[in-house]
Amino acid sequence: MNINEILNYKDGDHVEGLTGWVDSIRDHGGLTFVDLRDFTGTVQVVFDKSGEIDIRLKNEYYISIDGNFKKRDDSLVNKKVFLGDSEIEVTNLSVINSSKTLPFQIENDIDTDENIRLKYRYLDLRREPMKINIMTRSNTFKSIRSIMNELNIYEIDTPTLIKSTPEGAKDFLVPSRKSPSTFYALPQSPQMYKQLFMMSGFPNYYQIAKCYRDEDSRKDRQPEFTQLDLEFSDANPLIVKSNIEKIVKFVFSDAYDCKITTPFQTLTYNQAMNLYGTDKPDMRIAETLLDIGEVFIGTEINFLNEILESGGVVKALHTEELLTRKQIDTLDEEIKELGSNGLGWFKIQNKEISGPLAKLLRDEEKNSILNYGTGTLLFQAGDFNLTAQYMDFIRRTIFNPSSDETFCFVWIEDFPYFEYENGKLQPSHHPFTSPKDDKIFKDDPINATALHYDLVLNGVELGSGSQRINNPSIQKLVLEKWGLNDSEIEERFGWFIEALSYGTPVHAGFAIGIDRLVAEVLNQPSIRDVIPFPKTQSGLDPLTNAPATIEEEILEDYNLKYIIKDE
Ligand code: ASP
Repeated sequence: MNINEILNYKDGDHVEGLTGWVDSIRDHGGLTFVDLRDFTGTVQVVFDKSGEIDIRLKNEYYISIDGNFKKRDDSLVNKKVFLGDSEIEVTNLSVINSSKTLPFQIENDIDTDENIRLKYRYLDLRREPMKINIMTRSNTFKSIRSIMNELNIYEIDTPTLIKSTPEGAKDFLVPSRKSPSTFYALPQSPQMYKQLFMMSGFPNYYQIAKCYRDEDSRKDRQPEFTQLDLEFSDANPLIVKSNIEKIVKFVFSDAYDCKITTPFQTLTYNQAMNLYGTDKPDMRIAETLLDIGEVFIGTEINFLNEILESGGVVKALHTEELLTRKQIDTLDEEIKELGSNGLGWFKIQNKEISGPLAKLLRDEEKNSILNYGTGTLLFQAGDFNLTAQYMDFIRRTIFNPSSDETFCFVWIEDFPYFEYENGKLQPSHHPFTSPKDDKIFKDDPINATALHYDLVLNGVELGSGSQRINNPSIQKLVLEKWGLNDSEIEERFGWFIEALSYGTPVHAGFAIGIDRLVAEVLNQPSIRDVIPFPKTQSGLDPLTNAPATIEEEILEDYNLKYIIKDE
């Protein structure tokens, strides 16, 4: 039986077959006290040492006891623990299994290296904070399924051995033994399949889907992650966004007992970049970026003059705080690490301006700067995107989230269709996204806008979606502008363009990162903390030692061979 089953027991009631782990042991005179822990809670059980029972127990032994339930004296009630007002006087003990010495204690606060925690993840998951994380994840799945049922959205699954779906990362490949020298890809997302459902006549679709992207693991990235994937036929961005708001609102109230306000605010990509320096703004911080380029037109500060003349920008943030030299130097070092040439700053105090460039200011520049009032004006100048990136960092560093709302959602839309990544043109979402205007896309794809929308929560990209292309010739055009030639298009996407050619409805969809959602709700530092068995930052699983080498004879079945590359 479980500990929570004895919640309503009364003094003297007999407890039989209560199982759990030995959480801690304390010897007091003739009595031994053991905290017994199971999934549902912890209860103190008491052994009388003068009795017959052999009490050689250690932490994490899994035991079963019989005994008598007893309410503790008022003076002994431990209010901090579940069932702290009760104990069980043990009459019978059986040790179901002993435990080796633990690699770390099963306690709430441990500072054990994460690799060790992952190697013994099954022990790590016995700890209360991890249990809460995983149960919150489980409750999230449960709430998603209830709202999906209520909204009449169909849960349909898609294959995981597929031909590559481009989402901007590298694929994980699975060699085929039956057709040697060929490979399946694991889905980066079920994107093309969910669109095929719309072509197949299903009005909508959802799936709690595993996605695989071979990219560097960071605190909010994992090679394998879980998303709530959705698609709607006859839909447009407004319909999708309103469904997502219903879903998110329900899950927050049902799974996290938290009321959130809808509709969420919407910003265009350009607004977000101008005001916050990022397309993932943390809206809990009220302060926005100032464009102070105008102040310096014709300035005697040479480098600013050059930047402005070559089309660059000067972006600033004003804080009422008079930052210390040490704070300024630290910020300067941090943004230099990001690639900036250094932090620009003016301090404004008693109607005087100080700072390395203060002496070079002309009177009208001084007056404009004094207008910001006492405090510190921090700025960056140069190319718009880089400046935005540094100012976003400064904003998140110098200001604390101060909104009354714990969870601040914002939609970002009207993204550029393409962006440059390592000098190559890439769709900012994926190449199945509809351009906002087909003609502009055709004539000037670099400056075209996509019908792509992201949902951002507290500065974290929670999900993305788009209006899809439902016209085969536009689909082909997008792939061409992306840089694929006819034979590549045919080879990689010919089957999909063919599928689009049989009366495809208008459709649109979205996907929400469930790991990110749970991590954000629980304020966890990394998504690894809310994934039961995550990989390390380098993509390894210390528990099973995956990925592992394969014997050469097995590789032969797949027509594969190791090539040792010289470094
Ligand atoms: N497939 C996209 C992604 O995984 C989401 C979508 O467009 O629905 O990011």
